[in-house]
Amino acid sequence: MKPKLLDCGHPPLPDAYSYGITSKGQKICFDCCLVRDLERLKTNSRILVYWSDNDTITNWPGGHLGRIVSSHKIRNTWVDRSYASPTMLAVSVIDVHGQRWYGRGLGEGLYLKLRKHKNQQ
Ligand SMILES: [Zn+2]
Repeated sequence: MKPKLLDCGHPPLPDAYSYGITSKGQKICFDCCLVRDLERLKTNSRILVYWSDNDTITNWPGGHLGRIVSSHKIRNTWVDRSYASPTMLAVSVIDVHGQRWYGRGLGEGLYLKLRKHKNQQ
């Protein structure tokens, strides 16, 4: 018996959780997640990514999207500072397409909100 295919047309991996779910509720494989996220880098002006090891930027399944080229500490503006770190990090990112982004995050292993630079020169 053939395994049931995901909505993207590819077979699922043995791990039951190794797929992504699109905003329309379709189940797609991690390869297709990465294809979508790479395209999203080109079309979106804002994106939510994952700050991975060695200052790399990935999507949630770990697909490579870019790298952090600089970071510095700033005041934490996200949360009530009595419950969290008083500082956060402002970062500059270059994605795999060579586009420049800037954003804020709390550090490695956590998510990062990025905005694309209007001037890409
Ligand atoms: Zn797929």
